[in-house]
Amino acid sequence: MTDSPPRSAPETDVLIVGAGPVGLALGLALHRRGLRVCLADARPDGAGERDARVLALAHGSRQTLERLGAWPESGPSPISTIHISQRGRLGRTTMRAAEYQLPALGYVTPAGVLYGSLRAAAERAGIQILHEAEVTRVDTTATHAQAVLGDGRTLDARLLACCEGAIHGAADALRTRDYHQHALILRVQIAAPHQGIAYERFTPEGPLALLPLGEDYSVVWTLPAAQAEQYMALPEADFRAALQAAFGNRVRFTATHERARFPLGLRARGNPVGTRCVWLGNAAQTLHPVAGQGFNLALRDVWALAETLADAADPGEARLLAAYAHARALDRRSTIGFTDSLVRLFSNDDPLLAHARGAGLLALDLCPPLRHFVAKRMLFGARAWP
Ligand SMILES: Cc1cc2nc3c(=O)[nH]c(=O)nc-3n(C[C@H](O)[C@H](O)[C@H](O)COP(=O)(O)OP(=O)(O)OC[C@H]3O[C@@H](n4cnc5c(N)ncnc54)[C@H](O)[C@@H]3O)c2cc1C
Repeated sequence: MTDSPPRSAPETDVLIVGAGPVGLALGLALHRRGLRVCLADARPDGAGERDARVLALAHGSRQTLERLGAWPESGPSPISTIHISQRGRLGRTTMRAAEYQLPALGYVTPAGVLYGSLRAAAERAGIQILHEAEVTRVDTTATHAQAVLGDGRTLDARLLACCEGAIHGAADALRTRDYHQHALILRVQIAAPHQGIAYERFTPEGPLALLPLGEDYSVVWTLPAAQAEQYMALPEADFRAALQAAFGNRVRFTATHERARFPLGLRARGNPVGTRCVWLGNAAQTLHPVAGQGFNLALRDVWALAETLADAADPGEARLLAAYAHARALDRRSTIGFTDSLVRLFSNDDPLLAHARGAGLLALDLCPPLRHFVAKRMLFGARAWP
């Protein structure tokens, strides 16, 4: 941060750095609240449509995306039931949408499709997006924020919203953990219809999730880094056999497609706000995908920020940013802690822990109020929002 001479009022209230799914959702939410926004993204237009990730969206996220006019028209695949178990051990639990009077517990969509519908909604709203505009430096003072682009251009605003998808450098009070795991993601064809059932299966190597996507399953298979690398190189039949052995026989796989790999870790800023600056999405916290919480948490942050800044004369005012950080502290802290605990508790072969896990899953199964608490937590976040 540097001190700068006084300037005239900028034309943009909020400059959003990064037009990925979180930056676009924020642009839409702020625009809807009457703020003037501009987005700058390093990549060419449409690059986000090639995102290989597949996202499980909670029911609450569907409501938010509908309000933003960005729910994908192609209709994400509904999850009617979530089946949770651990391989080779006792204990399992099942959650059903009907228990919560909901049409679905969640929805599954390719991240590229979601990006496309957010991008189209931003275009309909007339939101300005600069492409191939990498922000190389940001300067903020008590009165002003400025971003400098790679080509030397400067963009002024009252508030910078950093949605650049990663936490760079030594951020304040950063919480980090390297899980030494990679997520292997792929699509798998199956022998019988999935009927909307999602599976979360905990194995000693790491969690293995099957998410219904169209007529197939999208798989997120967490593995030690070296094993993931080895599996990436296997011929299809050998790879499929390894996947079948890891998952068990509840679902029979007939073909696998489109393998991709992501290194996993936890990186979270202690404080998501600074002087005329706020960090959202993966730039605020990058989580393990075990419980599919990253984008869902980010959308709750986006909505809360837009509500806090609605009708504000100065959206970069320290008082407003502090109010936002305070309002989001519980949900952020508990979602980060929940995800981290799940990985550490379920990704090992300690026999004592295996018994505790089995007892925990059994308790969830036998005790509906406890199960409902966990389900609502996953559907709506810490405060069962909205
Ligand atoms: C395997 C896997 C599975 C997942 N599954 C789920 C799930 O089921 N449910 C869920 O909720 N979440 C899930 N997540 C998390 C989710 O993918 C992320 O939370 C989400 O995609 C983050 O979006 P973002 O917009 O913050 O970042 P990104 O999508 O990375 O976008 C960042 C944007 O910023 C731009 N940018 C970067 N640097 C600059 C710069 N200097 N100047 C200008 N622009 C810049 C980039 O070009 C990019 O367009 C998963 C993650 C992984 C890895």
